[in-house]
Amino acid sequence: MTIDRRKLERILPLVAKPGRYIGGELNSVIKEGPAVDVRVALVFPDLYELGMSYLGYQILYHILNREEWIAAERVYAPWVDMERWMRLEGIPLYSLETKRPLAEFEVVGFTLQYELHYTNILNLLDLAGIPLRSSERRGLFPLVVAGGPNAFNPEPLAPFIDVFLIGDAEESFLEVLRLVRIAKHEEYSRDALLKELASLRGVYVPSLYAEIRDPDGRFQSLGPLEVGVPSIIEARQVTRLRAEYYSPRPLVPLIEATHDRLSVEIMRGCTRGCRFCNAGILYRPVRERPAPEVVEHIRQALDNTGHEEVSLVSLSTSDYSQLPQLLASLSPCLEQRMVNLSFPSMRPETFTPEIASYARNVRKSGLTFAPEAGTERLRAVINKMNTNEDLLRAIDLAFREGWDLVKLYFMIGLPTETEEDLQGIVDLIGEVVRLGKRHGGDRRIHVSVSPFVPKPHTPFQWERQLGPEETRERLRFLLDRVRWPSVKLSWREPEVCQVEGLLARGDRRVAEVIEAAWRRGAVHEAWSECFRFELWAEALAQCGLSFEEYTRARKVREPLPWQHISKGVSRRFLERERAKALRGEPTPDCKNGLCNACGLMDEEVCRRIIARSRKGAKELGTASAAGIDASGLARPRVGLYGRERRKIKDVMPPANAVFRIRYARGEAMRFVGHLDTIRALERAFRRAGIPLAYTHGFNPRPKISWGPALPLGVTSEAEYLDVTVESHSVGDLAERLRPYLPEGLEIRAVTRLVGKPASLSAVVDRIAYEVTFERPLDPRRLGQQILEFLARSEVRVERRKSEDEREVEVKQVDIRPFVESIETVGNGKGVRIVLKVKEGRTARIHEVLQELLRQEREEVLRHRIHRTGVYVSQGHRLLSPMEL
Ligand code: SF4
Repeated sequence: MTIDRRKLERILPLVAKPGRYIGGELNSVIKEGPAVDVRVALVFPDLYELGMSYLGYQILYHILNREEWIAAERVYAPWVDMERWMRLEGIPLYSLETKRPLAEFEVVGFTLQYELHYTNILNLLDLAGIPLRSSERRGLFPLVVAGGPNAFNPEPLAPFIDVFLIGDAEESFLEVLRLVRIAKHEEYSRDALLKELASLRGVYVPSLYAEIRDPDGRFQSLGPLEVGVPSIIEARQVTRLRAEYYSPRPLVPLIEATHDRLSVEIMRGCTRGCRFCNAGILYRPVRERPAPEVVEHIRQALDNTGHEEVSLVSLSTSDYSQLPQLLASLSPCLEQRMVNLSFPSMRPETFTPEIASYARNVRKSGLTFAPEAGTERLRAVINKMNTNEDLLRAIDLAFREGWDLVKLYFMIGLPTETEEDLQGIVDLIGEVVRLGKRHGGDRRIHVSVSPFVPKPHTPFQWERQLGPEETRERLRFLLDRVRWPSVKLSWREPEVCQVEGLLARGDRRVAEVIEAAWRRGAVHEAWSECFRFELWAEALAQCGLSFEEYTRARKVREPLPWQHISKGVSRRFLERERAKALRGEPTPDCKNGLCNACGLMDEEVCRRIIARSRKGAKELGTASAAGIDASGLARPRVGLYGRERRKIKDVMPPANAVFRIRYARGEAMRFVGHLDTIRALERAFRRAGIPLAYTHGFNPRPKISWGPALPLGVTSEAEYLDVTVESHSVGDLAERLRPYLPEGLEIRAVTRLVGKPASLSAVVDRIAYEVTFERPLDPRRLGQQILEFLARSEVRVERRKSEDEREVEVKQVDIRPFVESIETVGNGKGVRIVLKVKEGRTARIHEVLQELLRQEREEVLRHRIHRTGVYVSQGHRLLSPMEL
């Protein structure tokens, strides 16, 4: 069964960014039919834009959908406006692929990426009509599963989740689903299924465990309630990052995602050993993908997506052992497709001229370095062993190479921090400012400050977290001193970090707090406009608890609520690291051959890492003497990719041709905005391999100019674009492009332009619409309203700057001069309206309808509007842009 699509159609015009809720993305998988035994909803507990950027779900979506008997679909959290309408109209939470209510899936999976998503999980269960608590769920399905980094302390969510997957899910999720399939066919009871699942490695079924607390209510221990249920749950980890985990056809978002690019995992794990970082522990040991495999994957994925940017993803990309070779092999493929390469945060000591030459294409987002602490003393405490000299050398190089924006990340409130360390942050920023001035121009420095939150399974898991007031004092220290005009300082709010700390190191009692906060209205707490600290304070008080109870320092021998979850890294190692931190002693990266005995020594991956790193030093010398890299990849050639490329193009300009295309935007794309439609078309050109011409400069863009923007929710048969291609002989452009267009976009006509055509936006001066009302109106009354409207000398309306509810600016506009004609269609069924465009300005069709029909905005948004033509007037004639 699917949700009532008519109801959905009625509410979509009324919400911001409706493209979030419609599905139909390129490379999405829709499976129906009897072969599908198990349906899995992969739920991301935040907005579409964030969820579509999450690589983990791209991997799982692909792995699960490869199995004929599994259908994996996606669900994202609706924004507050959409949720309000869904509740009003009685639309339950549904999947994007088949529009099935969540409650009808066998498995509902959440990823736990961020603590402030926890109330969203409850909210989504509620919106789906699934009982919040595991104990209240009666039938066999749906089974509520959760995984991801925060599953390593599952207790704050224990009552709400049936099954946690601990560690890498590539294999364990499939094992769980195989059992679910058996349970479905053999009609297990829910209890029987949960017990069987609990016996799988890496699976934690919280309802089969109970907490023991001391008389003060503090956590003492947690153990199984039944024989045969393991007392320690060992995390799963995949030995190799297999090529088949990564889809050659990744999903492409319909509307711009937060990280709107092809994200490619090159390595999992980081053994640098930063002592505040839980990812460094949870994803150990390091597993690298072979570089030739990465290159091939990128090639295929670019062909199938048309992305304009590739990001090499890992916890520490510059530590990938074959990075220079990978970049050299990738560059012809990226060069040919005009695809940019982006790097996440750089380590200053590994930011070399060679890397800079590859990365310099992507200047718009700036370069990011994370010194974390202001002094080398404190950096030794946290085991972040780069020096001020490293950082200044890297930034000097970045400025020299032409970057004008550098981003710096710092933490405050780290263990042992003193005023001297805070002053160190100020001094370091001052040095960077001076460096920027030396290089001249407009060099900008963005500094981001995060209060430290101790995380489970790290050497700092026992540390105290500063309260909001203490943190504010330290922030004030920085704010008073960092006053250079070129520096923009931003910070995470101390209260947000306080809640994060409560949830990160919470026990099962915190589950009551989460539910109480949610019942008070805490939803989308990760968004500053929604976060309300007072709700958490009230919820804690209601449960008889306090922030201090959870942010306090723990004794090293004290039982910890997450001690039954084992990554394999020993508590002794963490204690040893903590002691070294307090002495300011570093621990070297084990990737360099010196195992630090963290506890994973028996892991096959670790044995190989240790053996290979010992042997590797010898082989490296031989390979480099022979002129080839040990991986067999090409040696890097500095300057192949970057500004040099454009110089070559300047010398030999290709023979360009300009085509004008008329296309239609149909039902499937009507809720996708103008800019997102442009992006979808540009990607279609890339997938089709049409050689687009690009603008010059540091940020080349395809030479495409567009006709007047089409309003959201409006269909059209008269959209135009002019595209410049680098060849006269592209063949039949329409035929080449057609197979690559997303559903809802259709080419209607193509013509080659000669000479230097005037831009579409400069020549178009009429736009015609046909409007079909939701319900027919009285024709006589409508006729009268049209006469009255046309008789007015001015029609003032309030114009909103943004239709997104979060950003509204209102100004007064007279729309009357832009309305040329209005006539009735079909005896009160609708109207035909022609608008004038003057110097690029016009009236908005919805504004005209609101004034003409004297209806509220919500009513007007429900009428069906179709753009029938855009024209260029010549005397009394109206010409289509194809006729010019
Ligand atoms: S066991 Fe040794 S090699 Fe493996 S991750 Fe731990 S410290 Fe590194």
